[in-house]
Amino acid sequence: MEMTYVRKRIEEASNLVCLLGISTSMDCGCLNYRQEDGLYDLEQKYGHAPEEIFSSVFFSTRPQQFFDFYKTEILKRTGMPDDCMKTLARMETDGRLKAVITRELFSLPRRAGCQNVVELHGSIYENHCPRCGKAFDIGYMLETDGVPLCPECKVPIRPGVNLIGDRMSSARIAMAAAELAKADTLLILGGHMETPLVSNMLPYFHGNLVILVNESKHLSDRMADFTYYGKPRDILPQLYPAAADAISA
Ligand SMILES: [Zn+2]
Repeated sequence: MEMTYVRKRIEEASNLVCLLGISTSMDCGCLNYRQEDGLYDLEQKYGHAPEEIFSSVFFSTRPQQFFDFYKTEILKRTGMPDDCMKTLARMETDGRLKAVITRELFSLPRRAGCQNVVELHGSIYENHCPRCGKAFDIGYMLETDGVPLCPECKVPIRPGVNLIGDRMSSARIAMAAAELAKADTLLILGGHMETPLVSNMLPYFHGNLVILVNESKHLSDRMADFTYYGKPRDILPQLYPAAADAISA
């Protein structure tokens, strides 16, 4: 009954925006350097905690060690878009979804086919020279031995993602805020109401319906109008059955 009702609300939403949590990229097979079993093993392997390596200070001071980690653990584990991502793409194609806002780094919604995605923490696919601004794709980053350098400037290429210690792009925050300000329905996937993504973005949302899908329970869940517990890749296709043919592909 309730799910039928929520499906109908999604169908009838005039402007639905999705806040996509980082756990959804782990579901696709990517590393979350902040929380995952095996982080201790990574610390043993690299001699530093992943959170320490994945920082702007480490990038600047020890680029060789930074890129050892970054290439092996991040760029070689880009995952595959799962049914959650495919359903989002179909929702956008159908005109049901206006924007995805995320902090994940692997461009999974884009790779599934979403067009309007605000990647607050950037993307591993967009790298640039900090001096001349030239862009480099992920292939260049991976194929270069050791530290990938700009051929012109001979300085290390900056990964296109926010490292710990980086400020979030104010232009991207403004884009996300503008999308949220227009939304009447908010779909939160793979995170609770107090994750940084949601708590930072929620003030911009003035709509009337919040649907939350998350694997674990959290005290703040009551702030959502409807909550479903489980992986977004399992729940979202139920909330939007029209994507069935897209996800079986
Ligand atoms: Zn350059």
